[in-house]
Amino acid sequence: TFNQTEEIIEQTDQYGARNYKPLPVVVSEAEGVWVTDPEGNQYMDMLSAYSAVNQGHRHPKIMEAFNRQAGRVTLTSRAFHNDQLGPFYEKVSKLTNKDMVLPMNTGAEAVETAIKAARRWGYDQKGIADDQAEIIACEGSFHGRTMAAISMSADPDNKRGFGPMLPGIKIIPYGDIDALKEAITPNTAGFIMEPIQGEAGIIMPPEGFLKEASDVCREENVLFIADEIQAGLGRSGKMFACDWEGVTPDMYILGKALGGGVMPVSCVAANEGVLGVFNPGSHGSTFGGNPLACAVSIAALDVIEEEELAAHSNRLGDYFQSKLKEIDNPIIKEVRGKGLFVGVELDEPARPYCEQLKEEGLLCKETHDNVIRFAPPLIISQEELDWAIEKIYQVLSN
Ligand code: PLP
Repeated sequence: TFNQTEEIIEQTDQYGARNYKPLPVVVSEAEGVWVTDPEGNQYMDMLSAYSAVNQGHRHPKIMEAFNRQAGRVTLTSRAFHNDQLGPFYEKVSKLTNKDMVLPMNTGAEAVETAIKAARRWGYDQKGIADDQAEIIACEGSFHGRTMAAISMSADPDNKRGFGPMLPGIKIIPYGDIDALKEAITPNTAGFIMEPIQGEAGIIMPPEGFLKEASDVCREENVLFIADEIQAGLGRSGKMFACDWEGVTPDMYILGKALGGGVMPVSCVAANEGVLGVFNPGSHGSTFGGNPLACAVSIAALDVIEEEELAAHSNRLGDYFQSKLKEIDNPIIKEVRGKGLFVGVELDEPARPYCEQLKEEGLLCKETHDNVIRFAPPLIISQEELDWAIEKIYQVLSN
């Protein structure tokens, strides 16, 4: 019999590069925490497009901003001013408490921007000799798929066949303060880390590490760069995951939910002393800071603030984790996370469980083979979460 889902998957597999291995489900409509396939089956989205849909699918306020701006002007390039960029800058500047903002589109581009800023800061401000700047990154980190981002990855799958990698990068074990101290040299420009590692399987550094690392960086005149692309904007139960230790990084890298799941929007936010190193012609993006993206992003940030999604994530996340910890099954090695950013580590592959959860109407995705990541839109209600917990119990209980 005619099956749209099957045909669409066949077509996708036939004509597409094989750089992903999606669950066999086609999403053709979505609203809030729910998505629908072509046959009309409903699923709860517990991945949120890797935390890009923290505000829920097609949030009415964000869609209103999108539609309003789409009817006015969508792209000017930075050759001219547009009337949405200033308000976007001010919004992000106030949210991060940083002097200035540099807009890009995808997370990886914002990571590139941060690395370029750190290197130029290293030469112009710190006085590192030409082409000697070093960046310290962490094992297990994920910063995207561009050359700089994969050069900072320790995962051979991300790098194989793509060399030569960018020079001037040192990779240290995540959360190891002594390794950080040892790795710093007079040529170190920046230390980049995820305050919570998402793709690695929701890994938190030892308590106190963020604070210590930020102190070490300040003492050594090294920029502390927080990749908050996945963990930030309410996901971890605070606006920024660095807030858990009261740490203010020298640079915030933001993306994903910055665009409310509607437009790709990313940025770097930092003070004048850092982002001031860019002059006209030194960096940019045709689409970065476009008026449609800016209008959407302002609304996306308004929703996070007005609906207090960080506090909501914290409250429901605690409840969710406590419920998951009650599941009695020896295959579960650990339940961990912060807020609605939760990993369930199994001692066997997680994929079959994600497939079973899909059969129960719940979409999530394994990360690093044996971790199930649960990261629902932060607008999820208590009732919806209880529905999900029941399904998870059905699949994960012994
Ligand atoms: N940094 C972190 C922490 C991420 O989780 C991701 C994406 O998963 C990226 C960077 C890359 O973002 P993008 O896929 O938008 O380039």
